[in-house]
Amino acid sequence: MTYRAPISDMLLALNHGAGLQAAVQAGHYGDFDADITTAVLEEAAKFATDVLAPLNRIGDKHGIKLNDGKVTTAPGWPDAYKRWAEAGWNGVSGPEAFGGQGLPLAVNAACTEIWSAANIAFGLCPLLTLSAIEALDAHGSDALKAIYLEKLIAGEWTGTMQLTEPQAGSDVGALRTRAERADDGSYRITGSKIFITYGDHDMTDNIVHFVLARLPDAPAGTKGISLFLIPKFLVNADGSLGARNDIYPSGIEHKLGMHASPTCTMTMGDHGGAIGYLIGEENQGMRCMFTMMNQARLGVGLEGVGIADRAYQQALAFAQERKQGRALGKQGAGSDPIMVHPDVKRMLMQMRALTAAARTICYATAVALDVATRATDAKVRSDTAARGALLTPIAKAFSTDIGSEVAYLGVQIHGGMGFIEETGAAQHYRDARITAIYEGTNGIQAIDLVTRKLGANGGASVFALIDELSATVKQVEASNDPAFGTTGTKLREALASLDRTSRWLLERLSSQPNDALAGATPYLRLFSSALGGCLLASEALAARNEANGGGDAARYVALARFFAETIAVQAPSLEKTVTDSAESVMGADAVLLR
Ligand SMILES: Cc1cc2nc3c(=O)[nH]c(=O)nc-3n(C[C@H](O)[C@H](O)[C@H](O)COP(=O)(O)OP(=O)(O)OC[C@H]3O[C@@H](n4cnc5c(N)ncnc54)[C@H](O)[C@@H]3O)c2cc1C
Repeated sequence: MTYRAPISDMLLALNHGAGLQAAVQAGHYGDFDADITTAVLEEAAKFATDVLAPLNRIGDKHGIKLNDGKVTTAPGWPDAYKRWAEAGWNGVSGPEAFGGQGLPLAVNAACTEIWSAANIAFGLCPLLTLSAIEALDAHGSDALKAIYLEKLIAGEWTGTMQLTEPQAGSDVGALRTRAERADDGSYRITGSKIFITYGDHDMTDNIVHFVLARLPDAPAGTKGISLFLIPKFLVNADGSLGARNDIYPSGIEHKLGMHASPTCTMTMGDHGGAIGYLIGEENQGMRCMFTMMNQARLGVGLEGVGIADRAYQQALAFAQERKQGRALGKQGAGSDPIMVHPDVKRMLMQMRALTAAARTICYATAVALDVATRATDAKVRSDTAARGALLTPIAKAFSTDIGSEVAYLGVQIHGGMGFIEETGAAQHYRDARITAIYEGTNGIQAIDLVTRKLGANGGASVFALIDELSATVKQVEASNDPAFGTTGTKLREALASLDRTSRWLLERLSSQPNDALAGATPYLRLFSSALGGCLLASEALAARNEANGGGDAARYVALARFFAETIAVQAPSLEKTVTDSAESVMGADAVLLR
């Protein structure tokens, strides 16, 4: 079945749960006209349904090919990409000075969800280009921007992000690719990278590689890494394409999923060295790369949301059609759609609720990142920058974890047919799996959350967020609406667990850091459960208020209630998992090394 973007859910999440409307009303978005959002999403949804979704299965079956040093994508992909770029989708949030539309990142975040849901392997290409644009715009020289930004924003050229080497995965500081200074101010790069997404393809006539490398006199580790822009084809002074640069795909991977997205080994320097141009300053590459990675981490989180929503839609349709058994107590012959069974309802609600929470967390991250650059007040900018930094690892890891969980449930709802490729449920399950691994594994995200984001300012950003979320809980309680059930109580308990666990981790970070690291992953889940529950409750409150145009209040209240009573309710036991994991995980050697 095809994909239909859930526009009203997305708008409620964006405007109310994620706080876009309040930020616009506070003047943080300048003269941005929020009414545009609906029109943009409706157009994106149409393109996704008509053009991208039909190519999803074709790409999965056909995969990609590498012949004579050139990668070709599946039939229909180059044409779809061309149409997508010509329609302006690559430049939604790009800077206007270079041909972008300058719309909020938050609007583009919703679009990214749509591309990912329709065709995750396709959407991954522009996701990386956008990150490249961000890094070049923030750190590149005017000369580099003048040559490359407009083409990247128009989608005429795509970008890659090249960190990984066989010995340098999570530990980027171990990379060995070398850069030598050339007399003309450029650099010659030699070495090889592995697992490079869209490292080569046939959808555009040039590719702009963003490569991390090390100068001969660079300090060891991450302090000695520089970022270089390496075009596949050099660009002449008049903007036309020149000679082929010395960077080639030397292999492609055969993968569990994402078959249509090329994952390349890239070799540089077989013919004297790839010509590269420094971005930012020498040995400051990690700073530039973080700009790129943060953008990409949010994007990958949105992949999790997109694939989860696609899997949900497909499972719901199947559950309405597939007949097995009878509803309890129903008389007579015949069978009912499996949706009547409480266990199937439970799975569908779990899928729906996890997806909705992850969506709003990702959108809230985008709104924070927007306000951090758009607000005029310096304090607002720094507070929201801290909020965006705090939410980024949560958006990435929670959304991609639930992407896999929801796709797993999607297969389960299909029964045996879920294991059979024709239904497509299996493809979502396979495609979702990588999202928890690339752009920094979810374990690395959890460590980032605990050590850098919680630890950064004595937990100030976390406690400020808990205060805000508590206000939502108060509103739920004040509503006295029986439809909320025990939502208020469950969310209050979840926030209390989050508060206590954060304080425990802060103490352990200084006294016993290994204890804090052992609890990082369950902490991220606890955080997401409390946060997601409160954000869904805020959406339900907004939907109850007809003036917000939310409408359909009963539906959103029931969803928030389900999340609070079956998912956020796990927060107290996750608290115990974190605080007890210190001893139980540290006892692992006695088990594992025998
Ligand atoms: C399909 C695909 C596409 C990719 N695209 C790109 C791309 O475009 N560009 C690019 O540069 N890379 C890309 N990658 C690489 C990807 O980002 C890495 O695979 C990922 O960062 C993990 O590195 P690794 O595979 O070396 O695993 P490792 O770093 O070896 O990790 C193995 C396990 O150990 C854990 N671990 C490692 N170090 C620590 C630590 N310090 N503390 C706690 N746990 C730790 C990890 O969480 C993980 O569970 C891609 C990979 C794939 C498979």
